[in-house]
Amino acid sequence: MQVKECMMECSKKIALVAHDNKKADLLAWAKYNRDLLDRHTLFATGTTGSVFELELGLKVEKLMSGPLGGDQQIGARIATGELDFLIFFWDPLEPQPHDPDVKALLRMAVVWNIPTASNRASADFMISSRLIDHRYPRLVPDYENYTKRRLPRGGSE
Ligand code: PGA
Repeated sequence: MQVKECMMECSKKIALVAHDNKKADLLAWAKYNRDLLDRHTLFATGTTGSVFELELGLKVEKLMSGPLGGDQQIGARIATGELDFLIFFWDPLEPQPHDPDVKALLRMAVVWNIPTASNRASADFMISSRLIDHRYPRLVPDYENYTKRRLPRGGSE
């Protein structure tokens, strides 16, 4: 498949999501990296975003709570090119009522080649990359052929 470039600017648009058992973990990570995060634009699912604002005083655009549609909102913003990074501390030990949304969000991140961190170590490596403060031409598959594919005609002929 052909690829095309999608420019990530110096200031990244970072989505933050944590399941309840992982919120303390994400918060501890964010406290340590507060100054760095403050240089970027932050988005979060509802409850995660409230915790960030309350505990860190960081400006966050809050979407709906994850189980109520927030994960899908983040997935949609990835698809429309409005987000650059996904930091999503999901809980591997507890089933979530919105498991299909979680899976859909992780899938969107792969479809659009979005850097994704699912735990503290991966978030540490991702955020300490020398690329974080530079423009970066993210390669995304050019799905034009897919959207223009021939479809079987319906009806009787
Ligand atoms: P929340 O959603 O930040 O509103 O708790 C997180 C999630 O996707 O479960």
